[in-house]
Amino acid sequence: MFEKILIANRGEIALRVIRAAREMGIKSVAVHSTADADAMHVRMADESVCIGPASSTDSYLNKAAIISACEITGAQAVHPGYGFLSENAAFAQALSDHGIVFIGPTAEHIRIMGDKITAKETAAALGIPVVPGSPSGVADFETAIGVAASIGFPVIIKATAGGGGRGMKVAKNAAELEVAFRTARSEAKAAFGNDEVYIEKYLQKPRHIEIQVFGDGKGNAVHLGERDCSLQRRHQKVFEEAPGPVITPALRDKIGKICADAVAKISYIGAGTVEFLYEDGEFFFIEMNTRLQVEHPVTEAIFGVDLVREQIRVAAGLPMSFTQDELEINGHAIEVRINAEKLPNFSPCPGKVRMFHAPGGYGVRMDSALYSGYSIPPYYDSLIGKLIVHGRDRPEALARLHRALGELVVDGVDTTVPLFAALLAEPDIQNGDYNIHWLEKWLERQFG
Ligand code: ADP
Repeated sequence: MFEKILIANRGEIALRVIRAAREMGIKSVAVHSTADADAMHVRMADESVCIGPASSTDSYLNKAAIISACEITGAQAVHPGYGFLSENAAFAQALSDHGIVFIGPTAEHIRIMGDKITAKETAAALGIPVVPGSPSGVADFETAIGVAASIGFPVIIKATAGGGGRGMKVAKNAAELEVAFRTARSEAKAAFGNDEVYIEKYLQKPRHIEIQVFGDGKGNAVHLGERDCSLQRRHQKVFEEAPGPVITPALRDKIGKICADAVAKISYIGAGTVEFLYEDGEFFFIEMNTRLQVEHPVTEAIFGVDLVREQIRVAAGLPMSFTQDELEINGHAIEVRINAEKLPNFSPCPGKVRMFHAPGGYGVRMDSALYSGYSIPPYYDSLIGKLIVHGRDRPEALARLHRALGELVVDGVDTTVPLFAALLAEPDIQNGDYNIHWLEKWLERQFG
């Protein structure tokens, strides 16, 4: 087992990894920007190294500085968290070239899944059902029209290099397609430095259902059921739950097995998430994330496993500590993402947190790097915490979420807490009756 690992991230996910490492008797190294000198992950790690100025390009995305930090501190492995360099194949490769273990999949698997067209092709070849669409990148409008005619409107144009819900445009007819095609390409170029786009059938009322998979890199893999992440704003998840309210055990077993078999076939190592849109009993692959997801705690809650511990174990060459038969669902879990944002526009709201009080008690987990007196810097993601509740069943989890939200105090900055309080009063949320468009429509009705 490793003696020391470095966490190439910040915020709640850095704490998440430091905690797992500490329980395993592994020393942790935090890296931080100058703006994060007072951040909780720096305080909580055994050691810390400043790797650059505030801008993430010069710090959390600075591969050379992170590798130097490993060499200075003697860290044998790097956990990338999510975001930043977590799906950067060149970083995984550079680490391995320096004899440092990347706690995640191989550079090759990251590369395959990072290019969405290659990912879809690979998924289809591995027996995973995919969304109907263009078989490859679409270079000009004539081809785009041809694809749209064959799959039927509405269609969605997506960036091959996409991520974070950016660069996606929907078109209901040929006239809209012309504009959408052009803007999607220029947005993709600006956001990802690559203007290649592809086209998919736009599903009208799907749910976002994703399957957690885990492999040991030696051809063994399991699935840990699904998460329903349909409640989204601008294609970004805000509320996630497991198990999915509409997924039956038979459906779960079927799609779960397809995903586990697929990743076993490629000897995938570590945690991965196969994302689907689900409509009328059918699953359609959209992408695979080759990393730990923000919403992984709901899966941990219902299966009683520590996914980060597992990631570290398999990265060190140890076997997974469970088999498929040993994985059993226990109850229901919900996560809400608490952002420092001002409603109704969700504008970022950094600043000083005068008082922070985390909810607690039975079945409540708060993953957050906040503390009273902390100043949330303006340079990074606005996620300041994740509140995760676990109950015997969905109604109990909802009641617990309501109770826990009432205990949470984040004084000094605006947060998305009032959004969740309002959502919990909605019959559709109480009944689990929502799809990927529900939240946008609801926000439109609430705030116009
Ligand atoms: P990103 O990598 O940018 O997050 P995804 O491919 O994972 O992009 O899609 C993000 C979200 O966009 C999905 O959860 C869904 O809400 C919406 N979406 C993507 N593809 C489609 C589609 N073909 N039809 C309808 N909605 C879609």
